[in-house]
Amino acid sequence: MTGSPIWHPFTQHGLGEPIPLVTRGEGAALYTADGRRIIDGISSWWVTTHGHCHPRIMAAIAEQAGKLDQIIFAGWTHEPAEALARGLTAIMPRELTRVFYSDSGSTSVEVALKMALGFWANRGAPRHRILVMQHSYHGDTIGAMSVGERGVFNAPYAPLLFDVGTLPFPAPGAEQATLDALEAACRENPAALIVEPLLLGAGGMLIYPARVLAEMRAICARHGVLFIADEVMTGWGRTGTLLACEQAGVVPDILCLSKGLTGGAIPLAVTMATEAIFEPHFSEDRARMFFHSSSYTANPIACAAANANLAIWREEPVAARIADLSARQARRLTTLAGRPGVANPRAIGTITAIDVTDPRGGGYLSQLGPRLLRHFRERDLLLRPLGNTVYVMPPYCIDDADLDRIYAAIGEALD
Ligand SMILES: *Cc1c(COP(=O)(O)O)cnc(C)c1O
Repeated sequence: MTGSPIWHPFTQHGLGEPIPLVTRGEGAALYTADGRRIIDGISSWWVTTHGHCHPRIMAAIAEQAGKLDQIIFAGWTHEPAEALARGLTAIMPRELTRVFYSDSGSTSVEVALKMALGFWANRGAPRHRILVMQHSYHGDTIGAMSVGERGVFNAPYAPLLFDVGTLPFPAPGAEQATLDALEAACRENPAALIVEPLLLGAGGMLIYPARVLAEMRAICARHGVLFIADEVMTGWGRTGTLLACEQAGVVPDILCLSKGLTGGAIPLAVTMATEAIFEPHFSEDRARMFFHSSSYTANPIACAAANANLAIWREEPVAARIADLSARQARRLTTLAGRPGVANPRAIGTITAIDVTDPRGGGYLSQLGPRLLRHFRERDLLLRPLGNTVYVMPPYCIDDADLDRIYAAIGEALD
């Protein structure tokens, strides 16, 4: 759309790539103004879980919009937020007793970091160092970038990013090095470790074993270092279970959720915390309150959408749908796995990924990325490779015909 004043995210306008105009979404499909039906192979950037315009979520939004649109959340409350907090504490691990609302994955991470620092400050033993894992992604605000992988994405801002301790990624065969690095770093009394459990998304769909996650949690517990799980992407069934942490049998001190929280319909995030994190902030001293808010904290319409998502989880066979999609995805991955040009075929829950071997080398700015993007766009598929990593992360309602079209197009791309 030439002439549009819009400055798009993660888009190089100078390349003149077409920017399709989407007018409608239903299930796993998006419809464009020029009459095309696009299959959403990445859940509109990892947010759409049950499908676009899910009737129950849309109805909840419409109903709430007729009652209460927005209200200040400092010192005031409303039923959709109360119901959602009750629903979340019921479905999430019982140790996570407190729910703090914000608007995006990035803000949920900022809140988690501030909670961790507030915990130490209010106990009169300030700590500031944060431990992170290599290749992590936690969002695009300054704090979230600081705890994420440094690279071409954030080079211009590097001098402003705070210093962190980085653990090597637990690649196959190198898991012990990660645990040893964590053990050593914990001896210097850091405030917290923040990790994406089991799956590093934006870092290239990198999977590591549940055993390593469990060990990392145990090391943090042993040293009294707070453990923050960023399940912004992995939460809501993506990796096969409601939370990825479940597969390692671990409960974090602080949990970040967003993306699928409203089924992907409306921006909303929560940072959940244990009573131990809340307790040092609880006082008659106003200086010890949690100093964070955004204008739309716990927006009632967004909370209503999230309540509808929770109702879907409670009342519909979501776990069975996820298991079924996971199996259908895994079967199709095996058809690609042996082919020339395919490296590291991998799957976790509803997600599959391959690396397309590029003789000129990979990385986010790999020349293969834009060529693959064009290939998929020409076939009416919304797939967005991470450099030379092609992944499929569809809404849980996608049918076999649409999945087959996605995998056929990936096969053609390899040819
Ligand atoms: C997407 C993502 C974020 C950031 O969420 P936004 O809503 O885009 O700010 C944070 N952490 C992880 C693991 C993510 O995948």
